[in-house]
Amino acid sequence: MIQTDILIIGAGPVGLFTVFEAGLLKLRCHLIDSLGQPGGQLTEIYPKKPIYDIPGYPSVLAGELVDNLMEQIAPFNPGFTLGERAEHIEKVGEKMYQVTTSKGTVHRAPVIMIAGGLGCFEPRKPPIPNITDFEDKGVAYVIRDPEVYRNRRVLLAGGGDSALDWTIFLADVASEVTLVHRRDSFRGALDSVEKVMELAQSGRINLITNAQAVGLAGADHLQSVAIKHKSGEEESVSVDEFIPLFGLAPKLGPIADWGLQIEKNAIKVDTRDYGTGVPGIYAIGDINTYAGKLKLILCGFHEGTIAVQSAFSYIYPDKKLSFKYTTVNGVQGLPKDEEAAATAS
Ligand SMILES: Cc1cc2nc3c(=O)[nH]c(=O)nc-3n(C[C@H](O)[C@H](O)[C@H](O)COP(=O)(O)OP(=O)(O)OC[C@H]3O[C@@H](n4cnc5c(N)ncnc54)[C@H](O)[C@@H]3O)c2cc1C
Repeated sequence: MIQTDILIIGAGPVGLFTVFEAGLLKLRCHLIDSLGQPGGQLTEIYPKKPIYDIPGYPSVLAGELVDNLMEQIAPFNPGFTLGERAEHIEKVGEKMYQVTTSKGTVHRAPVIMIAGGLGCFEPRKPPIPNITDFEDKGVAYVIRDPEVYRNRRVLLAGGGDSALDWTIFLADVASEVTLVHRRDSFRGALDSVEKVMELAQSGRINLITNAQAVGLAGADHLQSVAIKHKSGEEESVSVDEFIPLFGLAPKLGPIADWGLQIEKNAIKVDTRDYGTGVPGIYAIGDINTYAGKLKLILCGFHEGTIAVQSAFSYIYPDKKLSFKYTTVNGVQGLPKDEEAAATAS
């Protein structure tokens, strides 16, 4: 059994940074994530994309930000249970929760910090009957390493930021890039839309609007995608890779059944401390909702910082919390949690 002060469900950027803020208060943390590596959306969806709105970093690659967060929390020796989904929660003492994962690993902590982001990742797939036959044989729903597409003929589909940004990026990597979108206007940032239009006008990409991918063909690997235009006309585009980027279906997963107040697929919280209304259970980052909520990394960092202050008072109601700047106190690490380290996978 793994025992800690704060059990964080979700090792995305918000869960990771919360380890740091908890560590400053001498609270030990253990993180559970269903993915095999930390970083959440940043690692899983856009590791090679630059982020521009992290304070103090004019630009940082998402993967680099995760590496930096891991370095920043290292002195606090957090434990990790990776590749396991947090499934069940139960109260086993006045101030003690028990969380069991999909692989049966048992964790106990007085405080649960839910930082589950969009929940368990499930990409939205286009309704093409044989699409699963080509998964990993030319069809991918996320781009982990753009180098895989070097000198390949790539067809992307979608009208949001992901589709636009990757189209721009892959124009310099792939031998041929086609973007298919079912409308003629895009949902993404204006700047990205303009860049895509420029690339199309200069002939560096092939842009097909008012159309959608409706069929896939190939033997061992994808060879072509059938495109149906709004007019009813169909054409076949020869490609090596098809990447539909239609976002992730927001699925809270097991957390939806934990008896918390859910609104629009997110957990309702009180902005005084990001508590869920259930004593000792907090929700931070993309997974929570409140008036004025913004799903930004920066906002999640703030929420985690506030929540651990409240968690400290919840765990130690008789101890006075003295607030100190890191510039004054430095970062005093915590000893490794031997039991957690030994049991976690
Ligand atoms: C393409 C793209 C570009 C973006 N660009 C920016 C940007 O420029 N700036 C910005 O601020 N934000 C950006 N965002 C949003 C940003 O990525 C999110 O706000 C951020 O990832 C939220 O962090 P989080 O830790 O709350 O959740 P996530 O990063 O979603 O991490 C949550 C983790 O919880 C895990 N999890 C969920 N349920 C369970 C469970 N039951 N058991 C175990 N693990 C579980 C998931 O596997 C996941 O790893 C972008 C998002 C995308 C998709």
